[in-house]
Amino acid sequence: MFFSEHFITTLILSTLIIGYLIDSLAEYLNIRHLNPELPHEFSDVYDTDKYAKSQAYLKVNTRFGFITSSFDLAILLTFWFGGGFGLLDTFVRGLGQNTIVTGLLFIGILLLLKLLISLPFSLYATFVIEEKFGFNRTSFGLFFKDLIKSILLSSILGGFFLSLILWFFESFGPLAWFLCWMASILFIMAIQYIVPTWIMPLFNKFTPLERGPLKEAILNYARSINFSLSHIFVMDGSKRSGKSNAFFTGFGKNKRIVLFDTLVKQQSVEELVAVIAHEMGHFKKKHIIRRLVVSILQMGIIFFLISLCISREGLFHAFFVDKISIYAGLIFFGMLFSPIDLFLSLILQISSRRDEYEADQFAAITTKGHHHLVTALKQLSAHNLSNLTPHPFYVFLNYSHPPILERIRALEKIGTSPKGLTP
Ligand SMILES: [Zn+2]
Repeated sequence: MFFSEHFITTLILSTLIIGYLIDSLAEYLNIRHLNPELPHEFSDVYDTDKYAKSQAYLKVNTRFGFITSSFDLAILLTFWFGGGFGLLDTFVRGLGQNTIVTGLLFIGILLLLKLLISLPFSLYATFVIEEKFGFNRTSFGLFFKDLIKSILLSSILGGFFLSLILWFFESFGPLAWFLCWMASILFIMAIQYIVPTWIMPLFNKFTPLERGPLKEAILNYARSINFSLSHIFVMDGSKRSGKSNAFFTGFGKNKRIVLFDTLVKQQSVEELVAVIAHEMGHFKKKHIIRRLVVSILQMGIIFFLISLCISREGLFHAFFVDKISIYAGLIFFGMLFSPIDLFLSLILQISSRRDEYEADQFAAITTKGHHHLVTALKQLSAHNLSNLTPHPFYVFLNYSHPPILERIRALEKIGTSPKGLTP
């Protein structure tokens, strides 16, 4: 029953439509939830104009997101029910290549089409919306240079990985899912190393943080919590956008912190240390390693499920494709899996929001006070025009971090509780 054509069609179609309706409802509620009155916690970083601007930014982005997702859904349904998958399959088979090359072409063309369709939307988002709100610093030249670099990179890395997967499923029968799983674990480990050392420098310049009070303070803090840190870099984020951020890359002894130049400019030494303390909290509280283990287990389960579904005739008929193939099966499985994926991502987000509170708490305790983290968070949200009052349902569906206001309130609670500051 599960693999009957009609059941699969109904399941995927209803997931797409219900998902679209739920998202649109959440966005509507989110806009309705905007409050013209500034939360009093933010009175020192926002004035009336800036607060109104942040709400206008949310409205513009929401409207644009609604148009994009409606368009995407319409295109997908037209392609699906217009027999697009079958036509493409006939075309790539007609080129007479072996199954792996045929598969790479099938998936490559689909991804390229998706990219071309979304291109006008990302141009609009960058050069109209971000520009209007004063964030955009990207030139057309840089935008297209970035685009070409990312296409080349994903063709090389993605193409290599996909060839392996196709080869395993073509040649190793019941062992294939296990081999795919092992290969993807190796691939993830390699990526952890390749991304910071080779890939990110293709897009940005990373300058070691120069000696001075900031570097001193960060190193002192790291020492105080026994955190081994090999490098601190400043990244020229201002090349593309005025928004600011900070992140960690690498593992073990090779961990490095990256601070956006925009962040270094905006925040005081104490605030920057508080932000870094939060990030280090994710390591110390084992969030990073736990997320890695969860995603590795998740991949194993996914490859196992793929092996169960990939050659079912019903799955292919649901997409109007006659001939069974591994490559098309992978794409169709991806669509069949989307309801489970949605459910899993909601659970992961709940756990991620909990981790954020824990990392905040870690930072407050180890930097001996929550004030600097609170002011850093407030400035960051004012600078990035974040939504201060998101609707709880929207947060539940979309937020990997708790809303800033809730984080600040939680931090203030630690600050005032008598045993709050003992680790
Ligand atoms: Zn965090």
